[in-house]
Amino acid sequence: MNISLIDIGSNLTHDSFAADRDAVIARALEAGVRRQIVTGADSTSSIQAAALAAAHPLILSSTAGVHPHHAQSFDAPLRAQLGNLLQLPHVVAVGECGLDYFRNFSPPEAQRAAFVAQLEIAAEVRKPVFLHQRDAHGDFAAILRDYRASLAGGVAHCFTGGRSELEDYLALDLHIGVTGWVSDERRGQLLREAVPHIPADRLMLETDAPYLLPRDLVPHPKSRRNEPCFLPHIARAVAHLRGETPETVAESTSRNATRFFALSPSPV
Ligand SMILES: [Zn+2]
Repeated sequence: MNISLIDIGSNLTHDSFAADRDAVIARALEAGVRRQIVTGADSTSSIQAAALAAAHPLILSSTAGVHPHHAQSFDAPLRAQLGNLLQLPHVVAVGECGLDYFRNFSPPEAQRAAFVAQLEIAAEVRKPVFLHQRDAHGDFAAILRDYRASLAGGVAHCFTGGRSELEDYLALDLHIGVTGWVSDERRGQLLREAVPHIPADRLMLETDAPYLLPRDLVPHPKSRRNEPCFLPHIARAVAHLRGETPETVAESTSRNATRFFALSPSPV
């Protein structure tokens, strides 16, 4: 399969890539993953992601933001720091930001405040938002509804919901990021039913590496570490569910990501 893909969610700054990050990037390129959007999730990883993207301008871009788990760390200096990072051309989106009530590592009020603040930054810098939501759909959709008109765009990253959540997100004109969750025949059932209903011009692909190693990957890496080079596996799973060819999925998702993140066309 000779396809060209964009991984819109890769946590390349994660410690598990410290020893072999260059090899991970090279393996991804060999597998046809020609570009990655490196996720920032707090102050440190947003700075690291921007530095990585600056060092690999043709292959990597990054996001800058604060994950809801870290919402308590959000303060005025951090807000200013994110605003500065987002002036850089290779920092292409605000996030990941949103709400996560699954474990409430930060109190819900702090999560909502940090989310709103980051939506305001996104409106100021006119860059799209990279959104995280878990067990918080109602509050999340309500807040987004208030801000949607001022946003350049938004992607529901690692979408795992079913048809009704999908309809809510499409009504908010969000893009939908699909991970290897789609390969999980047990936990991924709702998502697998929703995937054929994602409009072709709203679908994007991501590994969320090193998390979410596709369950049915063969051979299954002993480390259980997910890598961007496994994105073609996700593209094939999505294509199968949609009754499309992997090439069609690669083409539409790459086009969507290029437009959504305003990426310069790849020379590859
Ligand atoms: Zn996330």
